[in-house]
Amino acid sequence: MKTSKELPGLEKATVIERDQHRVSRKDISPNALKVLYRLGEAGYHAFLVGGGVRDLLLGNKPKDFDVATDATPEDLKELFRNARIIGRRFKIVHIRFGREILEVTTFRAHHKPLNEIDDDVPRRQIRGLDSAHSSTGMILRDNVYGDIDEDALRRDFTVNALYYTVDGFQVLDFSSGVEDLEQRQMRVIGDPVERYKEDPVRMLRAVRFAAKLDFAIAEKSAAPINRLAHLLGSISPARLFDETLKLFTAGFAVPTFKLLQEYEVGEYLIGPTLDALDTAPHAAVRLVELALENTDSRIAEGKSVTPAFLFAALLWPVLQLRLADMQSDQQQRHQEFHDAANATIMEQLEFTAVPKRFTMASREIWELQLRLQRRNKRSIDSAFSHPRFRAAYDFLLLREEAGEDLDGLGQWWTDYQIGDTKQRGDMLAVTAKPRNRRRKRSRRKSAGN
Ligand code: ATP
Ligand code: MG
Repeated sequence: MKTSKELPGLEKATVIERDQHRVSRKDISPNALKVLYRLGEAGYHAFLVGGGVRDLLLGNKPKDFDVATDATPEDLKELFRNARIIGRRFKIVHIRFGREILEVTTFRAHHKPLNEIDDDVPRRQIRGLDSAHSSTGMILRDNVYGDIDEDALRRDFTVNALYYTVDGFQVLDFSSGVEDLEQRQMRVIGDPVERYKEDPVRMLRAVRFAAKLDFAIAEKSAAPINRLAHLLGSISPARLFDETLKLFTAGFAVPTFKLLQEYEVGEYLIGPTLDALDTAPHAAVRLVELALENTDSRIAEGKSVTPAFLFAALLWPVLQLRLADMQSDQQQRHQEFHDAANATIMEQLEFTAVPKRFTMASREIWELQLRLQRRNKRSIDSAFSHPRFRAAYDFLLLREEAGEDLDGLGQWWTDYQIGDTKQRGDMLAVTAKPRNRRRKRSRRKSAGN
């Protein structure tokens, strides 16, 4: 157990006293408080940091709570039975309380690449020496422990580098975090070019927070993004998938999508979609917009959104362009649709590593679009009992709302679902044949156009 109450670096903070800010313990998750108090009792220093403090200061509800401390990951493991050390690039500790996971990080220093560290500095002064940079200056591993002021400065944005302590209830600011919160802007700590080069994902984070908080990106932090966007090409598709999901499922997909285009970073995540927007049929483009609006309103209502539906929608224009290139008769249609769906997914996987369970489901949502159109009893039964029916039906409604003329198909399925057995039987008997004939005729007509 540590006994020292001195925390080096603390003297560099601007201190905002408890009556000067709106962070209150009642808005903090009890588990986060438990961790803060337990660490304090054990003689360590622990702070709430990151999005939790930022959002509380803004009067928003934080998504999760992050803790920063001078306890090492090993200390934390000893102190909390429910703690797990995770990550290699960046060792952090997850403390699990039921469904809530608290992320606890040990104070780290922002450091120069090792080969640039002055040889006069005795190595033992570089605590927890374990760091590596790539030849482009990108941080590969980052486990050099440091003081709290150093920890603040290695964070990405000033508004993400505010600390809250339950030992005095103050907010500590080591950069211009509070001021930037008031000015409502995302400002990179340090030199933006250098910091984006270290970790290009920070450009995506700038966009994500700007959209979510309705903040501007400070001028000097915004200026180099277009020029450095290509660095995102060196980020692993797995990490880009994680970021993409965060970008589109934080409840602000509509403004995020706009900013991704404005800053020219979107093409490294959803390149095929953005390319297709210029040439795809209007209804397919509109479907993307509507899906993003839908996603945001679902999240606002506390409903879940599935990555499968999201990708099915984002890639719909890409799929439509592929299908337009194919001209085949009815028999081959199913196979071609299948091939086009596969190719569309493969194309996306080069950008983001969408896990297979999601791509499978996206493909099912698309393939059910074909099955929902066939109105014989067998295909109706199989579509209706398909585990992805609900998503596919929602997708169908979205297509119609986007302007596709599907001959009242959405309404038909709505009625079918609410109908009882007899009504369903009647619907099958009445609609199956005439509708099929009408659809065939109109298809032939449009093919001749
Ligand atoms: P939210 O959880 O609301 O999405 P957040 O700011 O808490 O936002 P996290 O990804 O949870 O974001 O990260 C927690 C904190 O860790 C951030 O606030 C920031 O201080 C720091 N951080 C995260 N990612 C980076 C990064 N790539 N570079 C520098 N600092 C980072
Ligand atoms: Mg967070």
